[in-house]
Amino acid sequence: MSKTLQAIRGMNDILPAQTPTWRYLERTFADLLDGYGYHEIRLPMLEFTELFARGIGEGTDVVDKEMYTFLDRNEESLTLRPEGTAGCVRAVLEHGLTGGGQVQKLWYTGPMFRYEKPQKGRYRQFHQIGVEVFNLPGPDIDAELIVLTARLWRALGVQDAVALQLNSLGSSEARAAYRDALVAYLEARFDQLDEDSQRRLTSNPLRILDSKNAQTQALLADAPTLADYLDPESRAHFEGLKARLDAAGIAYEINPKLVRGLDYYGRTVFEWVTDKLGAQGTVCAGGRYDGLVSQFGGKPTPGVGFAMGVERLVLLLETLGQVPESLGKAPQVYVCTFGEAAELAALTLSEQLRESLSGLRLWLNSGAGSFKSQFKKADKSGARYALILGDDELAAQVVGLKPLREEGDQQRVAWADLPAVLVNCLEDVKQTQANH
Ligand code: ATP
Ligand code: MG
Repeated sequence: MSKTLQAIRGMNDILPAQTPTWRYLERTFADLLDGYGYHEIRLPMLEFTELFARGIGEGTDVVDKEMYTFLDRNEESLTLRPEGTAGCVRAVLEHGLTGGGQVQKLWYTGPMFRYEKPQKGRYRQFHQIGVEVFNLPGPDIDAELIVLTARLWRALGVQDAVALQLNSLGSSEARAAYRDALVAYLEARFDQLDEDSQRRLTSNPLRILDSKNAQTQALLADAPTLADYLDPESRAHFEGLKARLDAAGIAYEINPKLVRGLDYYGRTVFEWVTDKLGAQGTVCAGGRYDGLVSQFGGKPTPGVGFAMGVERLVLLLETLGQVPESLGKAPQVYVCTFGEAAELAALTLSEQLRESLSGLRLWLNSGAGSFKSQFKKADKSGARYALILGDDELAAQVVGLKPLREEGDQQRVAWADLPAVLVNCLEDVKQTQANH
């Protein structure tokens, strides 16, 4: 016997029981972003490896350890995107969308790929919903991004379970000066660092601030802080952001150790975190990356964005019991047919009803079956009404209309009257223009 085929570890099927929650999340997000004037962009999942190596930066965990990279048949090194920002920057440059200082407010959604240790809230194929904004240098847009995520939390009913952490990474000069000070401080304590942090001391020392190791964290308590090295412009930018968040009534905590894993960030960084999901508590993370576009060969162009983890948000909705109940849409009408002639007539009648009633969710019974079994299926579907069509009804050009969710006898309705009768008993159904 051949081995049963299985999905790759950390790459999940999203089954029909879950897709309504996913669609609800995506729809809520898309509607909200529409309202703020953001436009969707769809990007390839595969890019040249160099894009990520240059954009995200060698020495980061993502580039060094987590990418799915392979040679295609043309011997070109390609990588399944581990995140969306680098590809988005490539696309806006390639299509001249940011030329002449044009402002772009963009969003995207889709799968990302990272070779990580799979666990709850951390997968190898996961999904992000992200936003990127170009050519707006001021703190007003940083604030808008945070304000709109806060609105999303309220729309989803998770606002009490998430908290905002904020930091400023300053200019690249400020970071370089701080990096030297931090490295000097930690080199003197090298033996007390965990292994990962020892390695990072040469490759990516700021990331040590993010270490989960308790002893390393204790060492960091007296380390120099980035805040002391901030340049005046970054300081003013940060103050501007805080003033706007205060005005908008959005609470935040300044976390001087928040550094983010990707190299391209400068000035503002933020994370929305929850304590409801265990170790994988960051549901949304972002920041400013004013240097990234020029790193890709474009004119210096301010950029700021964020990405949220859809799996973690779905988990959060489920954990908090905030998945709305009626997401999986039951039909309003289930059509039962008896005999081949009735079945043929029901096919035409069903299509006519779908044509003349917008919003109608009508399921036509498939696979024939006895009266009892079709009624059982009609009931199980959650439909409000069963339409019954057998030989008698066919001869009289009527259907039986039977309420399934309330007491009531079967009514006989002429085919010609059906649209009007259904519009009357179903709130969310409208007669289409063609029938007026
Ligand atoms: P983490 O510290 O959790 O590894 P990160 O800093 O690598 O996160 P980003 O690259 O900023 O994460 O991605 C933004 C968001 O995408 C994260 O806050 C998280 O919600 C989600 N995310 C990142 N990696 C994964 C993953 N492997 N599985 C599921 N969600 C993820
Ligand atoms: Mg990570």
